[in-house]
Amino acid sequence: MDSWQTPLIKVQTTTYGGRGYFALENIPAETALLTLQTPLTSVIYRAFKKEVCAYCFAYNMGRPFKIKLVRPVGVNAKVKVKSQAAAYAGLHFCTDACRGTWVTNYDHQNGLVSETLDCLETAFAISHKSPEPDLQHIEPCLPVSIITPEFLEEAWLQLDAFAASTTPSPSSSPALLPQDITSSTPSLGPTRMAKNQKAKIPYLDDPEFDAAREIALIVILNYMAHYHSPTEPTPEFKSLINNFKGQWEVFQQLQNNELALLHTFPTLVYSHLKVYQFLAQCLPTQLRPYLTRDIVRTSIGKDAGNAFGIWELPQSENSECVGSSIYGLASFFNHACNPNVLRQRVGRQMIFKTKMDIQKGDQLNISYGNLVNLERDQRQKILFDQWHFNCACLKCVQELSQIYV
Ligand SMILES: [Zn+2]
Ligand SMILES: [Zn+2]
Repeated sequence: MDSWQTPLIKVQTTTYGGRGYFALENIPAETALLTLQTPLTSVIYRAFKKEVCAYCFAYNMGRPFKIKLVRPVGVNAKVKVKSQAAAYAGLHFCTDACRGTWVTNYDHQNGLVSETLDCLETAFAISHKSPEPDLQHIEPCLPVSIITPEFLEEAWLQLDAFAASTTPSPSSSPALLPQDITSSTPSLGPTRMAKNQKAKIPYLDDPEFDAAREIALIVILNYMAHYHSPTEPTPEFKSLINNFKGQWEVFQQLQNNELALLHTFPTLVYSHLKVYQFLAQCLPTQLRPYLTRDIVRTSIGKDAGNAFGIWELPQSENSECVGSSIYGLASFFNHACNPNVLRQRVGRQMIFKTKMDIQKGDQLNISYGNLVNLERDQRQKILFDQWHFNCACLKCVQELSQIYV
């Protein structure tokens, strides 16, 4: 990916060892540098799902969009709808046109995407019929020092064995919760079967369910990229899969921030394991071979520090962040607190434009947040907590040197 380029910009190694975009020639202000048509994966946060179009991400200012998914006749007749939300895969659209485009792009292959979303919505609804578990009791606070690569490897290996043991009928599988992560040695200790030996779908909170849906889409696309349809695929399907393959290749090369994320928020260890368990129990059978611990860990670890919030437009200080998205190639834009490139979302598209005149050889940077009016210390804290790096941009370095003058 070091060599990825357009006529104007190129991915190169930076002086501090990472990768970034550099200008291949002098570029005037207001020049479009890169347009990415659709994310690799995205999710509208559960709290906003009725008010945001599942296709173009338009936000209806707190009011629900009335247009929902309609099942194609004869497809998914076998799927038992167990909750209101599952009847339409929990998707809302701003117009018939957006709904039509979503179906054409994502759901024309036997309705697999909507069937999967149905399964997840149904499982989520079932698990929420029981009272919320006392998580403080089940999930003790982990000291950061215990969270090492070896500790995580062990935790995931145990759950991998669990996933392999799940049968297509999840009702016969025991629930396995990592309840013994209290010892000071980097081991999970013995795992326990759920007391009643009855299958129990893990209780996910909204952010965990959002992560599950985002990962499910990656699993489905991986499945579809490997699936050989007996009939000739439509142009839309070919384009979807080609886009996925290209972005997936880029995604594999992005930095994995799993450890940094867990050192900042240790209890997310439990969340990640639960998300995997949930998907292992609830995904349709044909997708199970594509749900590996590697794909879940990679997705979560690379989402941290590489995902972009889907913000209400036009974006202002009061805008709501209604979802999350990953656009592989966008992640090679590094951050600067005084950036020379502006990132804009137009529907599903992500567009990058120069903010000022750029000299050949300059690095091209965007801002990862609305940080312009903040002090250096505040910016540094936000960037470290949310994006897992210490900002050493020109503005930060200059402001630091002023402190010591
Ligand atoms: Zn729309
Ligand atoms: Zn900075």
